[in-house]
Amino acid sequence: MADQNNQDAPHHIAWHSLASDEALDKLESNEQGLSESEAKARLDKHGPNKLEQQQGRPWYKRLLDQFNNVLMLILIVAAIASQFLGHTLDAVVILAVVIIIALIGFFQEGKAERALDSIRTMLSPKAKVLRDGRRNTIDAEALVPGDIVQLKSGDRIPADIRLIKTRRFRSQEAPLTGESEPVDKGTDPVDEDTPLAERSAMAYAGTLVVQGTATGLVVETGRHSEIGKISEMLRGVEKLKTPLLAQLDRAGNILAIFIVSAATISAFLGVFIHDQPPSEMFMAAVALAVAAIPQGLPAIVTIGLALGVQAMAKRNAIVRRLPAVETLGSISTIFSDKTGTLTRNEMTARAIWLTEKEVRLSGVGFSPEGKLLEAPQDPESDEPGEELSLDDNPALKHFLLAGVLCNEAELGQQAPNAKQQDDDDQDQQKQRWVIHGDPTEGALVVAAAKAGMQVAKLRDEHPRRDSIPFESENRYMATLNEIEGTNYILVKGAPDRLLEMCDRMRSGDDDVELDREEWEERIQTLSARGLRVLAVAEKQADQGLDELSPEAVENGLVLLGMVGLLDPPRKAAVEAVKHCLRAGVRPVMVTGDHPVTARAIAEQLGFAHTDKALTGRDVEDMSDAELEDNISKVDVYARAAPEHKLRLVKAMQAKGGICAMTGDGVNDGPALKRSDVGVAMGIQGTEAAKEASEMVLADDNFATIVNAIEEGRKVYDNIRKTITFLLPTNGAESLAVLFAMLGGLMLPITGLQILWVNMVTAVTLGMALVFESAEANVMRREPRDPDAPLLNLFMLWRVIFVSLLLVAAVFGMFFWLYHGQGNSIELARSGAVNMLVAGEIVYLINSRFLINNSLSMAGLFGSRPVWIAIGLVVAIQLGWTYLPFMQVIFESEAISLFHWAIIVAAGLALFLIVEFEKWVLRHWNLVGSESSPRRQHETAAHESS
Ligand code: ADP
Ligand code: MG
Repeated sequence: MADQNNQDAPHHIAWHSLASDEALDKLESNEQGLSESEAKARLDKHGPNKLEQQQGRPWYKRLLDQFNNVLMLILIVAAIASQFLGHTLDAVVILAVVIIIALIGFFQEGKAERALDSIRTMLSPKAKVLRDGRRNTIDAEALVPGDIVQLKSGDRIPADIRLIKTRRFRSQEAPLTGESEPVDKGTDPVDEDTPLAERSAMAYAGTLVVQGTATGLVVETGRHSEIGKISEMLRGVEKLKTPLLAQLDRAGNILAIFIVSAATISAFLGVFIHDQPPSEMFMAAVALAVAAIPQGLPAIVTIGLALGVQAMAKRNAIVRRLPAVETLGSISTIFSDKTGTLTRNEMTARAIWLTEKEVRLSGVGFSPEGKLLEAPQDPESDEPGEELSLDDNPALKHFLLAGVLCNEAELGQQAPNAKQQDDDDQDQQKQRWVIHGDPTEGALVVAAAKAGMQVAKLRDEHPRRDSIPFESENRYMATLNEIEGTNYILVKGAPDRLLEMCDRMRSGDDDVELDREEWEERIQTLSARGLRVLAVAEKQADQGLDELSPEAVENGLVLLGMVGLLDPPRKAAVEAVKHCLRAGVRPVMVTGDHPVTARAIAEQLGFAHTDKALTGRDVEDMSDAELEDNISKVDVYARAAPEHKLRLVKAMQAKGGICAMTGDGVNDGPALKRSDVGVAMGIQGTEAAKEASEMVLADDNFATIVNAIEEGRKVYDNIRKTITFLLPTNGAESLAVLFAMLGGLMLPITGLQILWVNMVTAVTLGMALVFESAEANVMRREPRDPDAPLLNLFMLWRVIFVSLLLVAAVFGMFFWLYHGQGNSIELARSGAVNMLVAGEIVYLINSRFLINNSLSMAGLFGSRPVWIAIGLVVAIQLGWTYLPFMQVIFESEAISLFHWAIIVAAGLALFLIVEFEKWVLRHWNLVGSESSPRRQHETAAHESS
């Protein structure tokens, strides 16, 4: 392996000790990056930049794990005991069943793990790379040595990189060095024998950028990288045990105790009271064990969860951790970012306020077509005035210049055939204008283009010396640019933040004392229109300043003006908010924007409480108890930073709420981890946010969260239905065996026949329920209480009720055929088995709706899987009854048409009895928990509106 490495890659180069020029030379690259063709050639030579995915558990461990279960052990003991008592056939079949269960579990888990893995590759990391001098975003897998990449906070570093330029760049190298404190990085080479943890000129694959930006040269990729050399450091495969499966395991343990004690007691009673031979009683005990264990259940639940993951992926919600599928169904609050999630993030500048006047802009979206117009004279009217020319308005021209210089965004065009991913742009088939970079900044570029300014040229003419990138915590961005021979500091950011840093404002060619009140009022006016406001300011830089620091920037600025940006709500989000409110899920907005803007947008979206917004500072000033009092009454949090998100989540959880939280930046990590379902943005989100979250939105769309909740509720419903469907079969079988043992009677069904019913007919039928589509009211009822037991009182009742019905039918059929008609015991048992299966079939249709009426066209015929399953089971059952080899194995015997008619009639009666029971429950409204009352904190919230 090591030798092979040496052939295709130059090794043992101490990149950290080379000057960056030397490193560039060595890899025959330069700061413009490689050419596309060279990159392709190198990719062929070095191979893709990825590490072989390691299997989570080796296959044999996964197989052995299947037997690590009390119920399986009971079955194995039963098989061994049967063999000793001379019932070889029973022993073989039970053993076969054990092996089949293990194999099903084994393959099912394998499939689920693979499905989860393949969904995870949909999240393959991206890298920003310079090729042919152009910025480009590519899959990190396609990186090659010699590539120039750009890194920013939140990125997972895609390869081993020699840093060329850094700005306040720090990374966290725990995956590599175990050190969780972030380390400062720079560009100066270090000694050749510097230990890995101190090589400050390098950024290593797999580590995380926690602050700043950098440009660097890719020096090693894939398995040649430092992380590739220690393969066991790979991110582990997630465990598949969800709370639901764990709950089933616990239920299984209780069941095991019940089986062993019931079997022992009845065997004793049988031997001592009814004088039955002990060996016979032992076989009955085996039958009881076999009857009581729902062998197919775990497999069906796993399949149900896996189907849920796939359905969610189809609707753009990528589940990273399986338990999230369940948790989604009980979410009662969604904390959501505003910009880009609830809104389209297609910012358009609508108004610019200069000191003297307001300017309006026409046109929509990122297309640079539109005019700059005089604002309406009459503030009531919306009719703008004359078109403005830049030559007559130097202040406007300067404002726009500062706006595009203190700016990273670029305007570009996308081919018209490109995939339209936003539901809102279906109609825009023509060439689309796109923004590379932050849409907030893009809006300023578009505004300047509308005024006829040539942005690229302006940026060349006014070179940038340094910059402080925008961070949500600071709420501003600053650059140092040369304008006509003088260095200026240009700043743009949140207006309230900038007013703190300004003491003067531009008026004509002069600077005058800042009129704070006037500007405060303008901020209010713009925000109240739902516009996001940005302020732009500048000052002349001190002589010789060539690096910006917050201290140098944050005072003595001259305000140039403000701009109001329109970012309309997504249509789909408006719909989704409606669905949410109906489903008892409260959407809450958490944004960095101004409270007035945030409230205006929340109102457009249809939020419940928009009369009040809390700001991040309000949250800081509140004690935990105060925040908990407010948490269910406030739907809008503005001027909020990531650290506030964590407090919101904690307060909500303290009130017993289950919440989802969205996020995109590194600093959102703690809140994402803490929330019940952390939701990261797939497009805007950083690697760090994705890794901290349970779910990723492929389209960054709020509506997708709501869709996922719907899927989650459906999955849970279907699993619950499957369980209520399966258990009565086991209940009836166990009761039949118990009654027979206690009453000293013949077993109406043998152990082997019970296994047949459990393994073949029950599983086939039960599987159909997993494929059921959602009931009409999934999104019209309250979220599920996460603490509620899997089987509530109602379901327990249903299971017992149907168990009793089935056991009565089975015994009735058996007695009638055996004692009544005087048939052979084999024929009587065949009739009893077919009666049981017929009962299962009709009860399957009952179970499609737990309490709603199944006696309708939709109820009876609405599900194709149900009828496929029924068709299959009827065919199998005919085979079981009439095929000679089946008759040998299962001691079955052919029954007559008349017997079938009775079975069908009894089946219909069973169906109607259960429907009648549902009617009674509905009529007297006896099923409180199914139409679950709102929980305490929500009631308060809804009433106050
Ligand atoms: P959001 O949560 O809505 O995305 P942000 O934290 O990104 O909010 O932004 C908060 C405020 O910072 C905005 O209201 C705006 O005034 C300002 N702002 C946003 N983006 C930029 C940027 N790229 N440069 C300067 N200021 C910005
Ligand atoms: Mg933002």
